[in-house]
Formats: sequence, structure tokens, C-alpha cells
Amino acid sequence: MPDQATAAAAATPLTASPAPAGAAGQDIRHDWTRQEVEALFRLPFNDLLFRAHSVHRRYFDPNQVQVSTLLSIKTGACPEDCAYCPQSTRYDTGLEAEQLMEIEAVLQQARAAAESGATRFCMGAAWRSPKERDMPAVLAMVEGVKALGLETCMTLGMLSDSQAQALADAGLDYYNHNLDTSPEFYGDIITTRTYQDRLETLDHVRSAGMKICSGGIVGMGEQQSDRAGLILQLANLPQHPESVPINMLVRVEGTPLENEADLDPFEFIRTIAVARITMPASHVRLSAGREEMNEQMHALAYFAGANSIFYGEKLLTTPNPRANADMALFARLGIEPEGRQVCAPPADPDPRFYDAAGPG
Ligand code: SF4
Repeated sequence: MPDQATAAAAATPLTASPAPAGAAGQDIRHDWTRQEVEALFRLPFNDLLFRAHSVHRRYFDPNQVQVSTLLSIKTGACPEDCAYCPQSTRYDTGLEAEQLMEIEAVLQQARAAAESGATRFCMGAAWRSPKERDMPAVLAMVEGVKALGLETCMTLGMLSDSQAQALADAGLDYYNHNLDTSPEFYGDIITTRTYQDRLETLDHVRSAGMKICSGGIVGMGEQQSDRAGLILQLANLPQHPESVPINMLVRVEGTPLENEADLDPFEFIRTIAVARITMPASHVRLSAGREEMNEQMHALAYFAGANSIFYGEKLLTTPNPRANADMALFARLGIEPEGRQVCAPPADPDPRFYDAAGPG
């Protein structure tokens, strides 16, 4: 169901605005106001999509979508209480916890990924933050994957400035750390770390010279104003995240959000479009929740400005659409995986690892 803000969409000063014209770069801003972002969300759907797609075409080839994959290097038993997450030790979801993988096992997977045409390898661990005793292994993984000629990406929870620097020194290219939702709604979802903690980790990552992947989740019971609040936070960071994952909640049995109501699919598309308009040069990524989105929804998301997807059988612990279904839809829509020109995919890519250009 549309929330009240959408249902009440009334004429706003932006309603009749034409798509902003001009060269790429001129509309990258870091001073968005809440009023402006909320007004974008309230635009008539067609006006919003036209505007988002117009921006999209100035910064990206609209017929290219980046694809990437993610290996869980440590699964479950996380002490945090993120209400959507089956990896939290607080919820009985039947997920089998696994300890940090051995370095060689990770490198073996990375080798297979490289042989399968990958250009970037993403590794995720369910931690509050890495413990100092885990850092040597994690750094060795980064160095080892790097030595294979792959770009590297990790998501390990909160980082101190020294941990961020150590990861950067080891060659880590990208760090994923999501803001999840608006500061106002955040306390309904997570109590074990603060919004400020998250912003500080992003700051440490930037200061260490790494690229940022940061976004959030919609459909957690938040209002449209919270979706606007999330985008506002991301768009007003001193530098936009290179990658902005917009996830749709996957309701996992046993988590506090298992019975959350469906989000109006058009609200999801609106969120993609507003992310595209406010962060024109970032890759906006469809991540968790794609399993429940049909082809039409994917196509609409691509038109609205999404240009990155996770490709493969698993996205951490939630189902992901089958890789061949993605490729079949790309073919029907005339979309090419981004990066193909620099790294031709194999004829029969391993769906677990194929990463045409990575998470950017
Ligand atoms: S989202 Fe991350 S930090 Fe939160 S419970 Fe899951 S694994 Fe832990």
C-alpha cells in the first residue's frame, strides 16, 4: 500500500519542472534539503522517472548494468540486533553459523572467480566490527585476492580509523557499510550501534582513501519521509558513495520484521529514482529483495536509474534471482553488463563469482 505521503501527492513546486538540462557534473550537489528530497518523492510518477532517466543518461550508458557478486567469509552469530537480519544471533532463523573462512579457502574461491571472468571480489563478514585478532587473516585475504589481479571489496561492520587504514594499505578498494534507513527511523531497527557510529565508519573509510558502497533497506515499515531521510543523508555526504545499494526488505522468518507489510513496488522505484537524481554519478544498485521482483519491476528500476545488480545464486544469506534469468532479461532489454569491453565474460560463467565490473 502507498504510504500517506505518496497517497497525498499533491502539486508541488517540482511537479512541472522539466528535467534539468546541462552537462554531466553540474548537478552533483551535497546541499540537498529535506524539503527538496521529499518533493522529489512526491512528484507524479512519470515526471519523476523522466527526470531520473534524463540525469541517468548524462552520467551513464543507459544500456549498461554493472554486475557483481559477494562471498560470505563469516556467516551468522552476529551480536548486533538489526531487525531485518537473519545473521543476528538474537533471532532464531535456522541459519547455520560459520566461522571465518580459512585464507586459502577464500583465495580458492577468488581464483575460481577470476577464472570465471570476475574483475572484482567482494567479501562479507557478519561482525559488529573486526576483532584485532581477525585482522591479520582479513588483510591476508585482501592481499591474496589483490595478487590475483582482482579488485577487492569488503563489508565487516564498523571500522576504527586504524583498521580502515590497514585495509587500505593492504589494497582494499571498496568498503560497504550501509546507513540502512533515516536517522529518525533507525532506532526502530537497530539499537546496538548508533547512526553516528555508521557515519564515523564511513568517514574512516574515506579518510583512508577507499571507495564507499553505502545505501539502505526499504520496506521495513518506514514512512516515505524516512526513505527521503536516508537519501538525504547519503546525498549530503562530503563525497557521494561510489555505490548506493537500495535493498528491498527480505522478510525472514524468525526476525522481528518477518510479518512486515508489503511496500508499494512503485515506492521502491521512486526511491531508486530519487537516489539517481540526487547522486547522479553513483552506481545505484539493486541488491537484496530482487528475488521477489518480476522482470517488469527490474526493467522499471533500470529505467529509473538502477545500474548495478548482484548476480549469482546468493546474496549473503538471502536468495537472489538466478543468474541466467538476469542475463536473459538483459538480452531482452538490450542491456550489456558494464565492463564487458574490458573483461569479456566466459562462455559459461560460474554464477557464484561472475563480476563484470564489481560493486563500484
Ligand atoms: S546486518 Fe550486519 S551487523 Fe546487523 S545483524 Fe546482520 S550481520 Fe550483524
